[in-house]
Amino acid sequence: MLIPSDSRDNFSGTSGEAEAFVQSALDALSAHIAILDEHGSIIGVNAAWQLFADSNGLSDPNYGIGTNYLAVCDISAKRRSRDAIMVASGIRDIMNGGMDEFQLEYPCHSPTEKRWFVVRISRFDWYDDARIIVAHQNVTELKRVQIELSESKRRIEAVIDNVNNGIVAINRKGFIQTANRASARIFGYQLDELIGLHLRDLMTETLKDEQSFYRLNGQHGHEITGVRKDGEHFPMYFSLNRLELDDGAIYTCIIQDITYRKRMETEIIERERMQVALDKERELRSLKNRFLSMMGHELNTPLASINLSYDMLKKYGDVSTPEENEQALDNIQQQVGHLRDMVKDVMTLSRSEAEGLSVDAEQLNLVTYCQDIVEEFHFIHSKTHSVDFECDIKKLMAQIDRRILRRALTNLLSNAIKYSPNGQTVTLSLIVDDAQEQAIIKVKDTGMGIPEEDHARLFEPFHRATNVDNLPGTGLGLAIVKQAIELHNGTITFETVMGEGTTFIIVLPLQHKAD
Ligand code: ATP
Ligand code: MG
Repeated sequence: MLIPSDSRDNFSGTSGEAEAFVQSALDALSAHIAILDEHGSIIGVNAAWQLFADSNGLSDPNYGIGTNYLAVCDISAKRRSRDAIMVASGIRDIMNGGMDEFQLEYPCHSPTEKRWFVVRISRFDWYDDARIIVAHQNVTELKRVQIELSESKRRIEAVIDNVNNGIVAINRKGFIQTANRASARIFGYQLDELIGLHLRDLMTETLKDEQSFYRLNGQHGHEITGVRKDGEHFPMYFSLNRLELDDGAIYTCIIQDITYRKRMETEIIERERMQVALDKERELRSLKNRFLSMMGHELNTPLASINLSYDMLKKYGDVSTPEENEQALDNIQQQVGHLRDMVKDVMTLSRSEAEGLSVDAEQLNLVTYCQDIVEEFHFIHSKTHSVDFECDIKKLMAQIDRRILRRALTNLLSNAIKYSPNGQTVTLSLIVDDAQEQAIIKVKDTGMGIPEEDHARLFEPFHRATNVDNLPGTGLGLAIVKQAIELHNGTITFETVMGEGTTFIIVLPLQHKAD
């Protein structure tokens, strides 16, 4: 009831109908409303006010009607209620016309519930009298949403501020609107200095053209050059995403300073380059050592032999028989030939590495070609070994360099003879693999075999297996074989069993056209 019957006289000149209308209008509102007279006394309240009083156990049966609201506020103000002080002063300002409306949000927590209200105070004239309307609106729900929103905003800001990547939001024109702490740190600005800068202030030419810049939208990181406040350039990853908001689109940019990673990458590449150079250097040194030790050993033997024959001719030439002199001269010639072969081998390898060997290929029948070589070997080594040729076909035409392939086959046959005991058979076989259009040549012996530890380096120049004992050799033969086969676009592999023998397998493409 706005105006209790015993207080109706306060409303001079009002009609009962008008009062009832105002009362029912106020009762329909959810705000708790009290009407004060010009002195601040409550002269009426609405239904929501009464309900609030009832549900909060307020004892006044008159719901405060007749009480001076201003005096109540003053009492609370004395108890240092900041809100009460402000409300009291607001009511006074409105009473004396200093203000039209006063509004204040205040907490009003019950023992069981946290509540917030907004009090709105304004003034109106009821016929000739001034009236103050005090409306308390429960805004707890709104406040709760507000609190939740600001908490989640704080949480998001905390996360954004604590990531290592820079995050900046820019408007369509490229001006920075917000930025996190990491971006300020990356670019060397204070956070507030960043706001309002244009994105182009933070990077080099790459993205200055706006079109190319907005085309980056939604794409993954771009590696571009950033510019710090002090002008230093640095590499950064940059990605851009368009975000549609109610009041227009903004772009968020994620920025990652990759200076450290770049430096590491460069260091790793440099270290790898140095490692390759070091390995090469080490390999060269070891090649040189192997070469020198081989030369020391292999040159000494023929030179000592030449020296011996020379001494013999010089000291005893006059008294020796012509046959003995002839034998000494033959020996000198043979040893010189041996030395020449060695020099030739070294030259072949070093020349091919430096400038590449040219292949002078021709069409020839591989069957007769191999057979001739085998027969030659059989004839020369008939005293110690038997050298056999196995082949089921009469003719197999292939495009090969007869001189180069001969070096390969003779080296393999020499090895097979050298590394197998006297009396054994060495076999060269030739078959054709029609499906693959390949010729397969195998050189097989039943000799000492090759230890596992030597397999990997067998084709390297000057490498000799650990089981060769005193058998002579330079370790160049297989390197030359491999090179010869590769010049024909072929491959060479081997199978070996210690103490049982070794087979070298050459596969030659028949379609090979010499370069
Ligand atoms: P050379 O330069 O005079 O041929 P080499 O025979 O020692 O000297 P390679 O022909 O390159 O050199 O052979 C390298 C090594 O491989 C040999 O020293 C030997 O240890 C091993 N080897 C090669 N062929 C055979 C084989 N048929 N049986 C056993 N070991 C072999
Ligand atoms: Mg050899």
